[in-house]
Amino acid sequence: EKKLAIELKDQPSTTADGRHISIFGNIEFPREIGVNLNYGAEGIGLYRTEFLYLNSPTPPTEEQHLEAYTTVVQELKGRPVIIRTLDLGADKLPYLEHRKEGNPFLGCRSIRYCFENPSIFKIQLRALLRASALGEVKILFPLISSIQELRRAKQMVYETMEDLDKENISFDKNVKMGTMLEVPSSVMISDMLAKECDFFSIGTNDLIQYSLAVDRNNERVAYLYCPVHPAILRFLKFAIKSAHENDIPVGICGEMGGELEYTIPLVGLGLKEFSVAPATIIPEMKKIIRSVSFEEAREVAETVFKFDNPEKTKKYLNDFVRKIL
Ligand code: PEP
Ligand code: MG
Repeated sequence: EKKLAIELKDQPSTTADGRHISIFGNIEFPREIGVNLNYGAEGIGLYRTEFLYLNSPTPPTEEQHLEAYTTVVQELKGRPVIIRTLDLGADKLPYLEHRKEGNPFLGCRSIRYCFENPSIFKIQLRALLRASALGEVKILFPLISSIQELRRAKQMVYETMEDLDKENISFDKNVKMGTMLEVPSSVMISDMLAKECDFFSIGTNDLIQYSLAVDRNNERVAYLYCPVHPAILRFLKFAIKSAHENDIPVGICGEMGGELEYTIPLVGLGLKEFSVAPATIIPEMKKIIRSVSFEEAREVAETVFKFDNPEKTKKYLNDFVRKIL
């Protein structure tokens, strides 16, 4: 692994016929940047900010947010970072009123919680905007399920911009705002969403859970949790098409993106951005990418679409990738 890492660290991540595929890292803490850069990440494609909110009796202050984001931006030295706004269930936040929900995964979590608590949300937005003055920071909204939610989130960013303007605090007026595609409804309206945001990030962890009605944490139904279920492949294809037709970038940040047997079909579906964890997987991904042409990857994706049995799909992809590694 180490040897491969050293060998491939400075090799470009391009297919055999020269299509560049960007590989970014997923992080939860600023201290994880170093290992990502060491293994060849081009930047951070998903910074999950939940840990700022956990293990503390009060919500993080604007300065606490800013300190974390500043560290990330500085360590990235000009490379981009996508920072995701708070994505937690209200049940997990110690300082909030606990209202029991029968179905927390379908309840007031993530962006919904932020809308319910605008003052907490705006503190994070202020810090994100302030960080955007320091480097290439993009804002990502989780769990969007309708166009109204996207508009509302953007509106809150614009309001926060006005506040900062009044206070003469600088920020990037053109900061990019993206939508996570992780709820089936948002994939199905991704053609509409693409017209109103700057980029997509596909969150397959939740997309699979919500599409297949499989709790991602329940072992009894884990056998049903399947990234290559034909329905998931169709969702992915549709999401990527929506992005391409509207000329916005689309990446994948769910775990599927960091599983080596899926790299080729995802490239074949047209994905050009992966954000993965752990960073140690990056050299092997590069090796896979460098060993196929885009045309070959497209053929693999087409073949996979013909299978109706995910077990067969997995075996086919496994055999394919094992020949490379
Ligand atoms: C996802 O849902 O795929 C994702 C990347 O977000 P999280 O795993 O944090 O829910
Ligand atoms: Mg998610």
